Amino acid sequence: MVIDFHTHMFPDVLATKTIPLLAERSGLPAYTDGTVKQTLEKMKKAGVTCVVQQNIATNPRQMTKVNDFAIACNQLEGIVAFGSVHPEADNIAYELDRLKDAGVKGIKLHPDYQAFFVDDPNMQPVYEAILKRGFILQFHTGLDLGLPHPVHAAPKALANTLGLFTGEKVVFAHMAGFGMAEESLEHMIERDVYIDTSCSLGYTEESLLLTMLKSHPEDKILFATDCPWGDFETDIEAFKKLDLTDALKEKILHKNAEKLLELT
Ligand SMILES: [Zn+2]
Repeated sequence: MVIDFHTHMFPDVLATKTIPLLAERSGLPAYTDGTVKQTLEKMKKAGVTCVVQQNIATNPRQMTKVNDFAIACNQLEGIVAFGSVHPEADNIAYELDRLKDAGVKGIKLHPDYQAFFVDDPNMQPVYEAILKRGFILQFHTGLDLGLPHPVHAAPKALANTLGLFTGEKVVFAHMAGFGMAEESLEHMIERDVYIDTSCSLGYTEESLLLTMLKSHPEDKILFATDCPWGDFETDIEAFKKLDLTDALKEKILHKNAEKLLELT
């Protein structure tokens, strides 16, 4: 059984435009066409039982539409869709209540696309509004290949949020620092927060990756591919080959996610 905690899908009309654009910007091949239909097909083929779909409100005007899509996808078998709020929107509380009422379990924030620094004190009310409603809060972290500097969520900056986030249902994607593994190992690994493994297999040098996976709290690591920027089959195969105990692999591949998403 495999749960993938980090995937992207788009409404059909947007997928045909968005995926080639993002692929060109990042220089990464896309393993799906970005549609729900093809993602579900590839999941089935790869033996992925459930994915978390990460939606991002890249500006305040789009927020409602993005969340309408999340709410619709969240009804589908095999998809747990996260909504998003934009820090500059004036109706964040309303939108969070709407998502909660619709059964959405988590909120994704992307500090680079949404132009805020993760440790900016002005963000604290937004974080608190999300967490007090019982949502999981997931962040993009580290570099984003499609975007210029500055990095808005470097591991060192994430460490400044630990006072607020330790022990909470907070997930730092990409091992808490895409492309910044050494800094993540120093500042974020071993801390009591969730990390997802997306963009680490095949990116982070294997001995460093193993050190990170073996040092972090074993109940707080979530398998993820960032599909379509990672491929289910390739990443599952690479993960299963890692020198980790079977018990830890089971936790990372699905048990930790089942618990966090309250699927059992
Ligand atoms: Zn992503």
